[in-house]
Amino acid sequence: MPTSPRQQTPATLVVSLGRPDAAPDAPLNVPIVLTSAFHAGGPLGYSRFSNPTWEALEETIGHLEGGRALTFASGMGAVSAVLDLVPVGGVVVAPSHSYSGTASRLRDLDVSGRIVLRLVAIDDPEAVAGACEGAAMLWWETPTNPGLEICDIAAATAAAIAHGVTTVCDNTFATPLAQRPLEFGVDIVVHSATKALSGHSDVLLGAVVTNDDSLFDSLHRARTLIGAIPGPFEAWLALRGIRTLALRLRQSQASAITLATRLQAHPGVTRVRYPGLPGDPGYALASRQMTGYGTIVSFETTGNADDAESVCRRTALILHATSLGGVETTMERRRRWPQESVDIPETLIRLSVGIEDVEDLWADLSSALNSIT
Ligand SMILES: *Cc1c(COP(=O)(O)O)cnc(C)c1O
Repeated sequence: MPTSPRQQTPATLVVSLGRPDAAPDAPLNVPIVLTSAFHAGGPLGYSRFSNPTWEALEETIGHLEGGRALTFASGMGAVSAVLDLVPVGGVVVAPSHSYSGTASRLRDLDVSGRIVLRLVAIDDPEAVAGACEGAAMLWWETPTNPGLEICDIAAATAAAIAHGVTTVCDNTFATPLAQRPLEFGVDIVVHSATKALSGHSDVLLGAVVTNDDSLFDSLHRARTLIGAIPGPFEAWLALRGIRTLALRLRQSQASAITLATRLQAHPGVTRVRYPGLPGDPGYALASRQMTGYGTIVSFETTGNADDAESVCRRTALILHATSLGGVETTMERRRRWPQESVDIPETLIRLSVGIEDVEDLWADLSSALNSIT
């Protein structure tokens, strides 16, 4: 008897979920279904409503998070569909600094009068609870991008429930293998599947997950009518990438703690944030609510923005590029983007740790840092 998917561990589920039913000569992998329309009489009808290739990916992400998933054309497509749930003029509580795309979208919606934005220190549970009164939605990411602050998911959810506020957690940095917000009672999980879920820096894709049927129906309707749908090829690439998620995370997380520890001791570095460092302000909380600390490390260099930029330019193996979560290690100074929050220090470098040998990574990074000391 095959065991049911629910009894398997996440490291197995990333391999076993989202496959066609077994039958003689049935393919092991879902095909890339390139069609705009389906023969009449079935549940699909038209490829803006659903598509078998997306459904295989949605089954996989949904099971891993413990809910039902919908995939979108990008993380921002998913973010925007969720923000569309807020009634006109509704209050949205959000982190004072977070992923710059989400932060910019929230600001635009506030300026146009579509929502009222209330910013809060997301790593301060009392401030979060205090901001919930009269709000329609409490939005957070944890760990935050790129500050790596940790939001207390249980405390934030309890405060939101007490005030009837819809909760949203952007789980991009943790992935469902390290953190499962729906188990804490969070209403909606958002992902940029562009990052670790796909894992190869070759696709843009987003996802939302919920176990509330009415929220699911609203989000499905929003996706169908706004049209921010994924391409079947992108969904197939993401599913192919997810197969190795557990292996990639294991390697990248092990390297991340090693690099974070060594960065702390380097004279070219003034501060390191990584929730897996025992001295990190988020360590105790992250240890309670996460089963891994993720693959992203932020550090500040000595000197000024030019010094930090020169470190980014001097690595050879580590690629100087934006985005994160790929098999290849990348880094960038976040304030090179004008839309990045001014709360983020000028010399902060966000390092996305890939799967290369950690000694090769350290040799590259430390030699680049030596140039500014
Ligand atoms: C990248 C990112 C997004 C946006 O995703 P895209 O796929 O680039 O649209 C949203 N949230 C976080 C935390 C991200 O890192």
